[in-house]
Amino acid sequence: MSQVRFMEAWSGGETGQGPEGAVSLFSRVYGQEPAGVWSAPGRVNLIGEHTDYNAGLCLPIALPHRTFVALKPRQDHRVRLVSSMAPDDQVRVDLDGLQARGVTGWASYPVGVAWALRQAGYDQVGGFDMALASCVPVGSGLSSSAAMTCSTALALDDLFGLGLGGSDQGRVTLIDAAVRAENDMAGASTGGMDQSASMRCQAGKALRLDCRPELSAMENVTQVPFDLEARGLELLVVDTQAQHQLNDGQYEQRRTTCDEAARILGVGNLRQVADEVKVSEDSATALQEVLERLPDEVTRHRVRHVITEIGRVDRFIEAFGRGDVQEAGRLFNASHDSLRDDYQVTSPELDLAVDVARAEGAYGARMTGGGFGGSIIALVDAGKGRGMAQTIADRFHAAGFHEPRALAALPSSSARREC
Ligand code: ADP
Ligand code: MG
Repeated sequence: MSQVRFMEAWSGGETGQGPEGAVSLFSRVYGQEPAGVWSAPGRVNLIGEHTDYNAGLCLPIALPHRTFVALKPRQDHRVRLVSSMAPDDQVRVDLDGLQARGVTGWASYPVGVAWALRQAGYDQVGGFDMALASCVPVGSGLSSSAAMTCSTALALDDLFGLGLGGSDQGRVTLIDAAVRAENDMAGASTGGMDQSASMRCQAGKALRLDCRPELSAMENVTQVPFDLEARGLELLVVDTQAQHQLNDGQYEQRRTTCDEAARILGVGNLRQVADEVKVSEDSATALQEVLERLPDEVTRHRVRHVITEIGRVDRFIEAFGRGDVQEAGRLFNASHDSLRDDYQVTSPELDLAVDVARAEGAYGARMTGGGFGGSIIALVDAGKGRGMAQTIADRFHAAGFHEPRALAALPSSSARREC
């Protein structure tokens, strides 16, 4: 049986990889040197799934896998772009008169960032030439899109002297531009977790993101120690490569059900209910009483997921913090089971990958991201990830599924200038 594809992060120094990859593509295409290279990471969410739009909690880490962008400003308002994914296809766009949805395809993400910054009043953002090289897996739910928009945002900040990238507060403005680029130019709906992770995560830490709308961007993140190496652990990510065929409208349906449940319960969002359940003397009974006020079985299942999942985020942080890896793993398992049985957003591929990881000795395993495809994560002893990924690949082969691919996630640093 074939060997599972393990996607290493670029370590630098190799031809065609890292900053050098972006520089050599830039020189080849434009016949000159770039002004600099900036990079930003993909991300993976540890726990807290489908909680963001319920004003809940999530816990992403930045991946060691990054997107590198080499840029040089131009004297006019034109943009030229090229990606190592299609090195012979140069895209050209004029920023003057550009409207929302005015660019299609992959270039809509970086061009959208320039457009969003200009819309936000940063008129000094002008034209530029750009070449992009990336080792973030595309379309795996690991946010290659945010890696691209955030590296571009930091580059434009630096090149055009906006003065935003050096502070956490300034980065929030860059995050907003990256989110607008995805939502309004690329037409991809995104809530902001990916861009916050790519711009604000720290090496060795997870980012506890509190999505209550009343919190300011300075109040809503906490850096939480997540040192896998010190605990002798590895976080295996397996991308099932399953097609997202069944998710038409499913995401919107879940959101609508949650909004409707909050209305019936007389609260602004389900987070308020989760907080009430958490502080009550008998949480299980309190949750039961909430569920009994809901009109149908489906709504009760959806709400139970949201409330229990929000609770699991801080329990995971506490368990991992005190070195209780068994309990941290149990919380991963409980999260997946809730997403499978109550929220019903898993797929046969995600469930099989999780089952195999558990049977092969993972402390815990769960799907990560929106579901209906994408990736799983497993908390395993250091050195076990590769073998486990191979077993999952073998079982996928036997089941007639797509060939999965894997990587090891270590909590890495946010967007930065490389050279
Ligand atoms: P994810 O962010 O989970 O990887 P998305 O669907 O949000 O998935 O974003 C994937 C899209 O981002 C791709 O279809 C492509 O348009 C764009 N993209 C990401 N990385 C690159 C890259 N290195 N070169 C060109 N386009 C890219
Ligand atoms: Mg994305």
